[in-house]
Amino acid sequence: MRSRDLQPTYHNIPLLKFFQVEREQKRREKRESWYRKGGFDSVIFVPATSASELKNRYMEEVKGAGFKVKVVEQSGVTLKRILQRSDPFRENRCNNINCLVCSTGGKGPCRSTGVTYELVCQLCRSRYIGETSRSAYTRGKEHLQALEQREHSSIMWRHSCEKHDGNVPGFTMNVTGVFQGDAMLRQISESVQINKVQQDQLINTKSDWNYFRIPGAVVTKS
Ligand SMILES: [Zn+2]
Ligand SMILES: [Zn+2]
Repeated sequence: MRSRDLQPTYHNIPLLKFFQVEREQKRREKRESWYRKGGFDSVIFVPATSASELKNRYMEEVKGAGFKVKVVEQSGVTLKRILQRSDPFRENRCNNINCLVCSTGGKGPCRSTGVTYELVCQLCRSRYIGETSRSAYTRGKEHLQALEQREHSSIMWRHSCEKHDGNVPGFTMNVTGVFQGDAMLRQISESVQINKVQQDQLINTKSDWNYFRIPGAVVTKS
């Protein structure tokens, strides 16, 4: 290469830019997918415990279920917080009258996609934990419609019949985590959240979800 080629001429400015962009991209990819290096599909963070007991139990469980999930110990940060990919308190609300989150005074970004959510009965505080690749707004409308039509599959209608003699109580819908495109992390988080709810306060039935179950003892240790 002649030294003339190395001069910053008009021509290599775009090339320089290209390298900058590429470097930036590589850096971002590295940050976002370091756990994929070991052939893992996703990553889960658990609170640090003595002798890595919690981490080891998670690893056993995840491996036993056939998932390639890297388990990482993290201290000083709650599991719930770390499971959330982006800031759930960044307001992304629609205040639409048909929005089950906004119209019930629920929390979280109703228009973000790829979320975990909960439906909370205002009478007995029982809750249903769910996840969707779509937004809570879209999923909430389906839940509402199913309730209005008294569909057999309606979570809220079923709860009203089982616990409140067919009188429909108020329900609040909260968005509890935002995961964007990471379906596996979202589903793991749903399982973790389900396991955190006391059995007699849980509206979900076993047939509502098909993900592996993380032992309750593990979760309550956090
Ligand atoms: Zn809304
Ligand atoms: Zn209830």
